[in-house]
Amino acid sequence: MSSTASGKSGTWRNWAGNVTARPAREVTPASVEELSAAVRKAAEDGLKVKAVGTGHSFTATAATDGVLIRPQLLTGIRNIDRENLTVTVEAGTPLKRLNMALAREGLSLTNMGDIMEQTVSGATSTGTHGTGRESGSIAAQIKALELVTADGAVLTCSEKENPEVFAAARVGIGALGIITAITFAVEPIFLLTAREEPMTFDKVTSAFDELWAENEHFEFYWFPHTGSTNTKRNNRSAGPEKPVSPVKGWIEDEFLSNGVFQVAQLVGRTVPATIPTIAQISSKALSARTYTDIPYKVYTSPRRVRFVEMEYAVPREALVETLRELKATVDRSDLRVSFPVEVRTAPADDIALSTASGRDSAYVAVHMFRGTPYQAYFTAAERIFTAHGGRPHWGKVHTRDAEYFAGVYPRFGEFTALRDRLDPERLFQNDYLRRVLGA
Ligand SMILES: Cc1cc2nc3c(=O)[nH]c(=O)nc-3n(C[C@H](O)[C@H](O)[C@H](O)COP(=O)(O)OP(=O)(O)OC[C@H]3O[C@@H](n4cnc5c(N)ncnc54)[C@H](O)[C@@H]3O)c2cc1C
Repeated sequence: MSSTASGKSGTWRNWAGNVTARPAREVTPASVEELSAAVRKAAEDGLKVKAVGTGHSFTATAATDGVLIRPQLLTGIRNIDRENLTVTVEAGTPLKRLNMALAREGLSLTNMGDIMEQTVSGATSTGTHGTGRESGSIAAQIKALELVTADGAVLTCSEKENPEVFAAARVGIGALGIITAITFAVEPIFLLTAREEPMTFDKVTSAFDELWAENEHFEFYWFPHTGSTNTKRNNRSAGPEKPVSPVKGWIEDEFLSNGVFQVAQLVGRTVPATIPTIAQISSKALSARTYTDIPYKVYTSPRRVRFVEMEYAVPREALVETLRELKATVDRSDLRVSFPVEVRTAPADDIALSTASGRDSAYVAVHMFRGTPYQAYFTAAERIFTAHGGRPHWGKVHTRDAEYFAGVYPRFGEFTALRDRLDPERLFQNDYLRRVLGA
């Protein structure tokens, strides 16, 4: 588990180390009944309740001074329905375990994010996404949900059953109840061919619409202080399978993307003046490559270098202008940014508080190496993102509040009304939810 378990000191810490909390107690339920009992007991004791996944969120979304519900014993596959092509998993199942189990069964999710350490419920609750022209976030692949609500009852929802709960709870930010199981749409496993290729910032921004339209999954990284990007196109392939060779994979994915990258980050943090030079070198370190593999091996890769991140979804048509403004801001400032900026897309979906709710979206993510002051950079970036009506990832650093969200989410009131109905006493409240949803 990546988030450090509350040690003897009783302090819980997230993956990035920028959020800590001291829960009054921790519970690790092994069944839905035990979880219901824990929720009821917390309410009796006047304590708030919060479920945590693997603590991969950069916001305090999972932090609590009440009862912290741990996921470790609520894991595994409940059912695979081959006829309807769905899989039902326990809420605490890590994405990695889900992906590997599905692959063994000849099945796969359609799309996913960059890593697979998170739990299925933690990942979907904040709207975790990869990149896609037609396929959306992991939550957009949910077919049904089971959750324990504030009164300890078990509620199930889907398009047909409690559809108003389904419309909101797929990206619920932990506010509507504790998820106990999720049913995802799956498909027969397929192959993806990945083409990674350096491209100039000017080229990728001027050809962005074509690159997006021509590829099922297009994304790129821009290296601040340079005019260079690294692009990645993933498209379905008839095969044959042609994975990255283990040695080449180790050199590129472990040594360059994690090992050398970590050293470069440490040098940059100690001597910020070296960052532009390091960025020039880093942007040239990864060369073009093509490989074909099963989905999770193409979409995800290990991320061992710790960082802090802010990511906003802007309307897709505003992406190029947003990025050019970000580049101009970095260029004329004395900011020193050693981490690449990641750009992805998602089609509009029908989930009330999904960052892609009702609009085709592009994501721009800014990162800073852990331990480096990030406020000045993130503040400058956030000013640009919000000027384009941006919606921050619920699990990544931002400073927005309920008033702002009411303006950028047409269905914000629908979500808060459902919350009033399901959790009138605010059993699942924490400081983060108070800020983003209101009291
Ligand atoms: C290295 C790294 C890479 C990342 N890559 C991506 C990426 O590619 N795309 C992307 O979109 N994001 C990415 N993220 C962000 C990450 O996916 C999200 O923050 C995600 O929510 C973390 O999942 P988790 O299991 O750690 O949940 P946590 O961070 O522990 O919790 C997240 C939220 O889910 C709630 N929750 C957890 N379990 C339950 C439950 N059973 N019922 C109800 N609510 C629950 C928590 O209360 C909290 O509100 C990345 C983060 C890191 C650190």
